[in-house]
Amino acid sequence: MYLLQDWIRYGDELRRPLHILPKVSSSSHIAIVGGGLSGLTTAYRIAEKRPDISITLIEKGKSLGGVISTWKDGEWCCDLAVNATRPHPAVWRLVDDIGLGEKFHPSNHAVRRRWIYENGKSHPLNPLTAIKIGPLNILRSINKVRKGGLSVDQLIPNKMIADAMTLGIVNDTAANVDADFLFPRLTRFGRNPAKRWSSIKRKIKQTYPLFTPKRGTVASFEGGMSTLVNQLEKQIGKLPNVKILLNTSFENTGQAADFFGIPESSVIWAAPVNNERPSNKLSVFVIGYKEADVKSVKKGYGTLIPESDIPISGILHESDIHGSRRAPIGHRLFRIMVPHSRWDGDNEEIRQYVRELLSNADPVIFEKIGERTIPSYPPGYLSKISNSDISINRIGWSFSGVSITHVIAEAERVADFFNNKAGGSA
Ligand SMILES: Cc1cc2nc3c(=O)[nH]c(=O)nc-3n(C[C@H](O)[C@H](O)[C@H](O)COP(=O)(O)OP(=O)(O)OC[C@H]3O[C@@H](n4cnc5c(N)ncnc54)[C@H](O)[C@@H]3O)c2cc1C
Repeated sequence: MYLLQDWIRYGDELRRPLHILPKVSSSSHIAIVGGGLSGLTTAYRIAEKRPDISITLIEKGKSLGGVISTWKDGEWCCDLAVNATRPHPAVWRLVDDIGLGEKFHPSNHAVRRRWIYENGKSHPLNPLTAIKIGPLNILRSINKVRKGGLSVDQLIPNKMIADAMTLGIVNDTAANVDADFLFPRLTRFGRNPAKRWSSIKRKIKQTYPLFTPKRGTVASFEGGMSTLVNQLEKQIGKLPNVKILLNTSFENTGQAADFFGIPESSVIWAAPVNNERPSNKLSVFVIGYKEADVKSVKKGYGTLIPESDIPISGILHESDIHGSRRAPIGHRLFRIMVPHSRWDGDNEEIRQYVRELLSNADPVIFEKIGERTIPSYPPGYLSKISNSDISINRIGWSFSGVSITHVIAEAERVADFFNNKAGGSA
């Protein structure tokens, strides 16, 4: 059973399984495989708590950060993967602990609007959307989905809205996505707190260091998400018990354990497992305009496009959202998400759609800034991993939660094992 203080600390993250062998806490040397945000944060959290344990962080690439990286060109700035975090005190605690508070800002509260583009029109996504779906329909679906193992389109009985939501989070259509995985509180997955959620939420709100986030806002870093990765790397560099090995990879936990001469229970896997399940690939473009040329584009968070015959699944208004600058003065920057399942690789096609969706004017900047792969989380996924035996230590977004709030909170829960606190009793 989790205590009230655990729910206040971790919120709904406690509904997700924590695949950690309790034996890990008796290790004298821990190997963490995968140097993305998950591996980095876990290394930092354990190392600062237990200077007596030596930690090796292993990354197959030539730099740390995993899918996180920030593209810059003069004053233009855009993230390739995550660009902001939704509120969770674990993220705020990490930012505070690593001394990054001054570079961490709430998003622009005035530009929370989101739209769905369908049949040639943008439809606002707001509380009225629930009325459109029908509150009774929603209640019926929520009750049905609480049986567990169903998809998001069974939870949200409106295909356009359901697809838009899952595309915005995991770049997949709602029928392919596990409702428990994406919305565990709605489906009441896993354990439930003894108190009403509204009262826990009020208490959580009082625990944020730095600043209390306003409803509907997100927060981000000056200079993009790589600011977080760089600072974590810097702080880890100051800890004498952590060693980083770049350009090194292992096939599995057993191989890493043999290499370091440690038990397999001392290896924490913070990386994807090759060919474990399908994934979705997407390309990321940036397009920047003079402000006057996109006057008709309303300020907001962005537009999701569920129609599969349009190659673009989402347009994010980067320079509207963030509390720090993303474009030169007098300009606006948009990030364009292009799933490969909808696109044959012709950049000119994207340019043409952008003319239709944003502006006919010539952009000041238009560039493909990279590609990313997002793991799939098919219906029944969270039940399946929750019911599987814990044979190895496994963390990160390729396993039990897609967002950075998940990987950052999970790192703290793992570190709690080293004090035998809440994270370990799952
Ligand atoms: C396009 C996109 C948009 C996103 N938007 C958001 C968002 O808005 N909000 C949000 O919260 N999250 C978002 N995310 C998710 C967020 O980026 C992830 O939750 C987080 O970055 C995952 O970190 P990780 O360390 O678990 O995984 P990764 O970043 O994938 O890191 C895993 C690391 O392991 C390394 N590795 C792999 N195999 C091996 C091996 N065999 N040996 C050694 N090393 C290995 C890899 O090179 C990599 O560095 C988005 C992601 C993408 C791609």
